[in-house]
Amino acid sequence: MRQRRQEPAVYRTEPLVVPGISGYLPEEARGRRDPFTPIVEKESRVVVPTREVTCYECGKKSRIPVSALSAHCVHCCTHLTLTDYILKPGAKRLTKRTLGEVVLPAQTELSLLTVVSGRMVAAGKATGVKLRVMDVLEMTGNASLEGQVQAGRLKVKKGSRVQVSPGVSVGSAEIKGVLTARLHATGCVHVRDGGALIGDCYTPELRLDPGAVHRGTWYPIKS
Ligand SMILES: [Zn+2]
Repeated sequence: MRQRRQEPAVYRTEPLVVPGISGYLPEEARGRRDPFTPIVEKESRVVVPTREVTCYECGKKSRIPVSALSAHCVHCCTHLTLTDYILKPGAKRLTKRTLGEVVLPAQTELSLLTVVSGRMVAAGKATGVKLRVMDVLEMTGNASLEGQVQAGRLKVKKGSRVQVSPGVSVGSAEIKGVLTARLHATGCVHVRDGGALIGDCYTPELRLDPGAVHRGTWYPIKS
C-alpha cells in the first residue's frame, strides 16, 4: 500500500497581525444598541390550545392541553383520566373514573357498578350502581339503573322507556321518552311532547309541553 507523503510542518516566524486591538469594537460600532428580544417572550408566542376540565374530586377547574389523554388537577393533584370507556358485559365490581364518556351498551347487564364520569350514555341495565355524571347522563332504549344516580343534566331520548330506582338527583332534566323514577332536580324539569314522567318530582320548575304526561306529585322546592 502506497503511503501518502506528508508535507513537512512549516515554521512561520511572522507574527499574526490583526487590524484592531483584540476585544475592542471598531469606532463606528461603539455605543451601538441592538434591539434585544428576551428569550421568554419568544417562547410565550408558542400557544398550546387548551380546554377547561372540572376535577371529579374537588370540583375545581383546571386548563389542560386539548390533546392530553390524562392530567393532574392543579388544585388537589388528583390524577384525571380523560379517555372514553364502553363497558363490557359480564364485568363485576367495575369502577371507572374519567372526565370522558362512559357507555353502558344495550343488552348489557352489570352489577355493582361505580362510575364517575364527564358524560354517560346508558342503554343497558345495571344494579347496585353509584353513578356521578358531571355533565350529561343520556338514557335511551330500555335502560334501567338501580342505586344512587346523580347527574348534571338528564336527557331521556325520544321513544325510550327507561327507569331509575329508587330515584335520581339532577341539575336539570329534559324528558322526551318515558321515565319511571323519583326525580329530584335543582333546576328545571322539562317534559316534552310524547314524553312522560312517572313518579314524584321535586323541582322548582316543572314544564309540561302539550302532550306531555306527569303521573305523580310535584313538590315545588326552592332552587
Ligand atoms: Zn382537584
